[in-house]
Amino acid sequence: MSQVVVYSSGNIQVVIGDITEEETDAIVNAANSTLLGGGGVDGAIHRKAGSELKEEGRTLGGCLTGDAKITGGYRLKAKYVIHTVGPIWRGENAGEEELLASCYRKSLQLAKDHGIQSISFPAISTGAYGFPKKPAAEIAVREVKMFLKENDLQVRLVCFDKETAQYYLNILNK
Ligand code: ADP
Repeated sequence: MSQVVVYSSGNIQVVIGDITEEETDAIVNAANSTLLGGGGVDGAIHRKAGSELKEEGRTLGGCLTGDAKITGGYRLKAKYVIHTVGPIWRGENAGEEELLASCYRKSLQLAKDHGIQSISFPAISTGAYGFPKKPAAEIAVREVKMFLKENDLQVRLVCFDKETAQYYLNILNK
């Protein structure tokens, strides 16, 4: 699967493709709290990175929802993987919006702390964790834009499906 750029302006790009193919300095993993691998994008990242990723994951003591931790990228093209644990959607007003925003903020801050110049995000929490795609896209774009006001970093929002890409495009083209 090749990466198709459907939006590019300033430091933000929207890409349709497989995040494990990204060549940015870091890719973000929508991990679960064990940091030992799972389904969806997490499984794909672990498969491509190789078993060393799980071994490093074991040393990290897990990760809380809304937080992020960094590892090497091993056999991935990306040098780093930033693992963040998104909230499971339980219905509105359970605090998931703030937790999802925190995933983006903490991941971006970790990237900055490690001198990372380019980063690719999947649509955190919008798969198995069931966060509705449109508000998730709004939170992602809001947090990325806020961060880019003060920091210089290339951010790629990688979508596995066209519906997610369309939400990003609608928001970014507003
Ligand atoms: P979560 O448990 O956080 O919901 P999922 O992996 O189930 O994580 O899904 C998060 C998002 O990642 C979904 O939009 C899903 O379509 C997408 N996704 C799954 N595999 C990949 C991949 N290889 N590259 C990019 N995005 C992916």
